[in-house]
Amino acid sequence: MQITPNVHQIPDMRGANTYLLLGTTLTLVDTGMPGSEDKILAYIEDLGRSADDLFRIVITHHHLDHVGSLAALKARTSAQVLAHPGDAGLISGEQSPPPASSPFMRFLFWLVTPLMPAPEPVPVDLAVRDGSRLDMGDPLGDATVVHVPGHTRGSIALHLPSEQLLICGDTIGHRRGRLGPPPKPFTEDMDQALASMRLMARLEFDILCPGHGAPLTGGAGEQVRAMVQTLG
Ligand SMILES: [Zn+2]
Ligand SMILES: [Zn+2]
Repeated sequence: MQITPNVHQIPDMRGANTYLLLGTTLTLVDTGMPGSEDKILAYIEDLGRSADDLFRIVITHHHLDHVGSLAALKARTSAQVLAHPGDAGLISGEQSPPPASSPFMRFLFWLVTPLMPAPEPVPVDLAVRDGSRLDMGDPLGDATVVHVPGHTRGSIALHLPSEQLLICGDTIGHRRGRLGPPPKPFTEDMDQALASMRLMARLEFDILCPGHGAPLTGGAGEQVRAMVQTLG
């Protein structure tokens, strides 16, 4: 599914949106729920590329709906795994997740934990920080990592100036056609998340690729700026 000729969204994913950036090398952003690897690799093959062309996988943050198929993809490709140090220990299994933010959420986790597969731990090959540049090759050029903590400590966005495009993970919510803050129950520090939204509003972009909900394909920067104004 094309968002632009060189930025695609893997269709019919379970879990978070998964984006494929087509430069000289291929970059995948997030991996959906466990069991999505066949769909992702089939999509790459349908484009006439192969699993070996997948050069890197950027993880926006450690939540299961974003890292679910990471272990399987790592096993079937030679891709490097990139994440922010703030979440790397949770992706590699060296740290355990922070406790839920409210008694209600702790109760909810207690209910669903036996039903949810724990993500298989995967070592992070390359730690990326605010300002890290990733060379995508022609015609995309460099993408810049933006550290946008709050939803999780190590949440990152990826800014692609050549496409006027921002991939924001779960740091901007897009539900029922409306932009807003990330979902409160799953957000570690809402004040920090709001500060990160203000930071993203200052970037130049026209297309927004969120972790959930449809991408916004025109005037997205203005819409994010307008939404941030309403946050006070
Ligand atoms: Zn998510
Ligand atoms: Zn999340």
